[in-house]
Amino acid sequence: MQNCSLLVCKHTRSAAIVDPGGDLELIQAQVKNLNASIEKVLLTHGHVDHCAGAFTLASYYGVPIEGPHPDEQFWLSLLPQQSAYFGLPTTQAFQPSRWLHDGDIVQFGNEMLRVLHCPGHTPGHIVFLSQKHRLALVGDVLFSGSIGRTDFPRSNHLDLISSIRKKLFPLGDDVRFVPGHGPMSTFGQERRTNPYVADHVVAS
Ligand SMILES: [Zn+2]
Ligand SMILES: [Zn+2]
Repeated sequence: MQNCSLLVCKHTRSAAIVDPGGDLELIQAQVKNLNASIEKVLLTHGHVDHCAGAFTLASYYGVPIEGPHPDEQFWLSLLPQQSAYFGLPTTQAFQPSRWLHDGDIVQFGNEMLRVLHCPGHTPGHIVFLSQKHRLALVGDVLFSGSIGRTDFPRSNHLDLISSIRKKLFPLGDDVRFVPGHGPMSTFGQERRTNPYVADHVVAS
């Protein structure tokens, strides 16, 4: 029930896997189907449903894990407890090969993604943006018709609203996004209709 994305550079077939929470055989089969060559595993944040498969996949393909932001360290350290809490197979704690900060660039093949630090749901949550393709991978910051939960330790509702309104929406109404859960949408659609962050709901 979580969206893992497989991004493939059309020219080189180099690819990145974003937020592999599970179903690793499905992801591996799709990598083969698309004749993709995995270059890195990217993480938006440290919740177990988004990163339980990261270490296994990164080891399998021999590639680095990049992201999230260093403020997410405590969630990654708590992965064994998170998996126990949700009744999932034990997930080992791990460290990414590279922590990411606001403004960093992540590359695979000829593709570039810009990193935006978007705290609120979790303190070290990041979003990946492809300027060229007008596409964002926003994890649990924003959903079609909803926003991320802020009832976790170190969540912050005002930070979340500010991340969405001040960092994501200015990227443009036409930007499509893949949320951590549920269907895709655009920033413009959420600006108009999202009951938590629409223009008519939050005075900016
Ligand atoms: Zn989450
Ligand atoms: Zn989630």
